[in-house]
Amino acid sequence: MYDYIIIGGGILGLSTAMQLIRSYPDKKMLLIEKEDGPARHQTGHNSGVIHAGVYYTPGSLKARFCLEGNIATKAFCDKHDIAYDECGKLLVATNDLEMQRMQALWERTEANGLERYWLTAEEMHEREPNITGVGGIFVPSSGIVDYAQVAAAMGREFEDAGGEIRYATAVTGLNESANEVVVSTNQGDFSTRYMVSCSGLMADRVVRMLGVEPGFTICPFRGEYYRLPAQHNHIVNHLIYPIPDPSMPFLGVHLTRMIDGSVTVGPNAVLAWKREGYRKTDISLSDTWAMLRHSGIRQVLKDNLRSGLFELKNSLYKKGYLEQVRKYCPSLTLADLEPYPAGVRAQAVSDDGKLVDDFLFVNTPRTVNVCNAPSPAATSAIPIGAHIVEKVKSSCVNHTEPDK
Ligand SMILES: Cc1cc2nc3c(=O)[nH]c(=O)nc-3n(C[C@H](O)[C@H](O)[C@H](O)COP(=O)(O)OP(=O)(O)OC[C@H]3O[C@@H](n4cnc5c(N)ncnc54)[C@H](O)[C@@H]3O)c2cc1C
Repeated sequence: MYDYIIIGGGILGLSTAMQLIRSYPDKKMLLIEKEDGPARHQTGHNSGVIHAGVYYTPGSLKARFCLEGNIATKAFCDKHDIAYDECGKLLVATNDLEMQRMQALWERTEANGLERYWLTAEEMHEREPNITGVGGIFVPSSGIVDYAQVAAAMGREFEDAGGEIRYATAVTGLNESANEVVVSTNQGDFSTRYMVSCSGLMADRVVRMLGVEPGFTICPFRGEYYRLPAQHNHIVNHLIYPIPDPSMPFLGVHLTRMIDGSVTVGPNAVLAWKREGYRKTDISLSDTWAMLRHSGIRQVLKDNLRSGLFELKNSLYKKGYLEQVRKYCPSLTLADLEPYPAGVRAQAVSDDGKLVDDFLFVNTPRTVNVCNAPSPAATSAIPIGAHIVEKVKSSCVNHTEPDK
């Protein structure tokens, strides 16, 4: 019998496992991951940005965890000798509407207590000669890192402290009773006193295995990228972001310096027809049917039809995609957009048709389940893990029961 089983070898599961074993070094813990290594899904397919906390509603979990996570991630990288670069980020407005939206973001950054600078078009051009716009906000604390490396280091800390990790082990069923949770997998059954699920794109399915109707379903949104050719590795000095449309949960196509020295463009946000489908041609009939059957997702598709079709068009026609980035980086050409692997975001959609914006947890007496952990959850993984440890301590029944 384990004391704790954690499902999911992404950055949230590994951060939780690492911090849980720090709190309870004598307890028996197991992390279960269906793939044959860590960070194979969202954690290993993202932009690698250590966000500063520009966009998030003051007082929300997203805002709090992002600010704490920005500092904690850099400290973790220092401790583990993982390369990161605090290169700063520039938000660029290209017209009057975006200037108005930028003013709102400026006020938000003030409420979130961020260091930032308002730049005129000339000041922006001095910092970034290849970028054009009518004004910008510079945020120095944004950075870049490889989150797969961060997650792997968390896994090593967990194992060094006595935790066990089983890869290539898929959870297929859960049975929670008064005294234990039985976790059924393709490698046999494991019982545990408490369980934490950080299962990303499968979060709702894991909750349903507990017999709980979660009130939401996961809608997968593919984020497609391009990489610029190596001669453009110095085209920008900072991360370059457009001013996002506040009605959309995604940040828009940005120019991202990666920690390996390359520069990517992206990601867009197109509905994916398979939860872990990274190519345009990946389609799962059962995933698609489950999506279209959900009235909340149908409502979201209806409410966002225009922007959804716009994203789809630009996904299919590279020229449309290019136009989005040429708004602020006009020198790029079609030939500059080279292939780069996509990521798939796990976005929770409530049964009443809303895109869930903040982090979301569902608890039962012996389990804590992370149900919505969109960007900036990689940045926020350390405070989210600490929050889960606190939830486990406070919400699981008889947490202090003696060892059997
Ligand atoms: C395109 C894109 C760009 C992003 N950019 C950024 C960014 O720049 N900065 C940032 O902070 N965040 C970013 N994010 C968000 C961030 O990557 C995610 O929020 C974060 O990685 C979520 O981590 P996770 O551990 O919850 O999920 P995941 O990394 O998806 O891990 C979940 C794990 O659970 C496992 N699992 C699922 N079901 C089972 C089962 N039944 N049995 C066993 N194992 C199971 C999966 O195999 C997977 O490994 C981005 C995300 C995407 C997709």
